[in-house]
Amino acid sequence: MNLSINTFAGTISDYERAMSEFGIQDISVVVDSLEKDMLHSYLRRGIMFGHTDAQKIFQSAKEKKPFAVMTGIKPTGQYHIGSLITCKEVLYFQSLGGKVYFCMADMESFLHNGVSLKEGHKIAIDNIADILALGLDSEKSYIYKQSEEKNVLRLASMFSKNVTYNMMKAIYGKQKFGAYQSALIQAADILFPQLEQYEGPIQTVTPVGLEQAPHARLTRDLAKKQLYREEFGFIIPSFTFHQILGALDGGEKMSKSAGSTFILTLSESEKSLKHKIAAIVTGGRDTKKEQLELGGQPESCRVFDLYKFFFMTDDKTLAKRKDECRFGKIMCGECKQDLQKRVNEFIQKHQEKKSDKFDLAKQILEN
Ligand code: SF4
Repeated sequence: MNLSINTFAGTISDYERAMSEFGIQDISVVVDSLEKDMLHSYLRRGIMFGHTDAQKIFQSAKEKKPFAVMTGIKPTGQYHIGSLITCKEVLYFQSLGGKVYFCMADMESFLHNGVSLKEGHKIAIDNIADILALGLDSEKSYIYKQSEEKNVLRLASMFSKNVTYNMMKAIYGKQKFGAYQSALIQAADILFPQLEQYEGPIQTVTPVGLEQAPHARLTRDLAKKQLYREEFGFIIPSFTFHQILGALDGGEKMSKSAGSTFILTLSESEKSLKHKIAAIVTGGRDTKKEQLELGGQPESCRVFDLYKFFFMTDDKTLAKRKDECRFGKIMCGECKQDLQKRVNEFIQKHQEKKSDKFDLAKQILEN
């Protein structure tokens, strides 16, 4: 597996080393055992590249046995395209029959980002409206606010019995205590669907980016502890790992920490979109002459990444664009114009759908 592609560059740059260190398996072996109609484009394109125990989830899906999908978002601001990767994976597992547990991680927003619970609540409603507009079936989901889910907070307290300061420091570095607490709350989010009051012990899968590998291991280690297995009968949770989408300026990750100029939100106006797309770092050459002669470099181009992750769903169209780029048949200006048109259409449709979802979002969070 080639791990040197630019989009893989995250806080963990050596993917092969990270996979071996955190016991992550290459997902292509699992993919080979799946029927074509079960394959998500992220699996075909190698975006979802690694896993721990994901074969058990696919087996449950094939046998129509229950399983759960656990995910969450920190309500700190507008929904952005970096979060869309996980959302697409969650929707995929939902389409395979998984029951979704979706956490509005307002405690983490408070502990990490200093967002008040009141502000977090408002943002969470907006984020839920986005997720519903993207296709989450609320009837088959359990959407909750972390600060009010007592069983999550209780479980996090119980986990603190089995971690030491040195363990947390080795995983997360020297942090304020709240950051360590927040890590335990996240582990509790992943495991609480298995409590008796919810699904009971059940296969669960959590799709994450590779930078979450240390956290995935901590959660699996906690689930394996005899104390918790005896108390709750946890089944070790599965994880899938995806490539990290870089920021528009070539930075390592499309996340809010990259700064609002370098990320695309799902509520960009046409004007801001035009501005941001014009500034995206590409794999184009310095001059038109060079690009005609040498071709562009799609493997190190954020525009191509956006096509690959979201805006060219048809594999043949994506392969055609890659060839056009490589052989100098298309220039970056034209390629960006095409992207802008596609993103703009997507955002407009999304906003239309979202406007109908606010009432339901509010109802979910407040009732
Ligand atoms: Fe990127 Fe398109 Fe330019 Fe190729 S032509 S380097 S894919 S922007």
